[in-house]
Amino acid sequence: MLKLDRIKETIRTIPDFPKKGILFRDITPLLLDRRKFKYCIDRFAQAVKGKIDYVVSIESRGFIFGSALAYKLGVGFIPIRKEGKLPFRKHSAAYDLEYGQAVIEIHADAIQAKSRVLIIDDVLATGGTAAAAIKLIKKSGGVIAGVYFLAELPALGGRKRLKGYPVHSLIAYS
Ligand code: AMP
Repeated sequence: MLKLDRIKETIRTIPDFPKKGILFRDITPLLLDRRKFKYCIDRFAQAVKGKIDYVVSIESRGFIFGSALAYKLGVGFIPIRKEGKLPFRKHSAAYDLEYGQAVIEIHADAIQAKSRVLIIDDVLATGGTAAAAIKLIKKSGGVIAGVYFLAELPALGGRKRLKGYPVHSLIAYS
């Protein structure tokens, strides 16, 4: 069996969480397995082409993969947080979720102009979260070097929404 199939079978699917009709992809069993977790971070690192200045992740599951990847690449890490959590001057972007609505924020001084930034999150669903993160990075003057996900839900059309950016996911659910 391919390693990525093993990663996929380790992700647990929970029906009707957090709302009826949502098939929630629970990555916590994957995190328990030191070899599989490391394998995913290594696969992300191998996919990076060219120079990266920062890894940016979205609260909160994105932080788990993003900070490990930043460590592996030897670059800085920038958190994008939910509204009201960051203490300093910030940029904000509103977006729709697969379930609900939200605002995310980044510190306005985190990214220097023309820095090359890699965005990473656990799941690509509708792409709304990642599109809002892209807006925040562009407002900050950064360049999007890639948008990476552990898992993609192609039926929700997230990749189309991120058209024009280098999108990469390790696994997809048909
Ligand atoms: P979206 O903005 O629709 O692409 O949703 C992506 C964000 O919501 C990510 O941060 C995911 O962690 C979370 N998410 C959306 N749908 C799911 C799902 N079915 N299972 C797990 N996480 C999800």
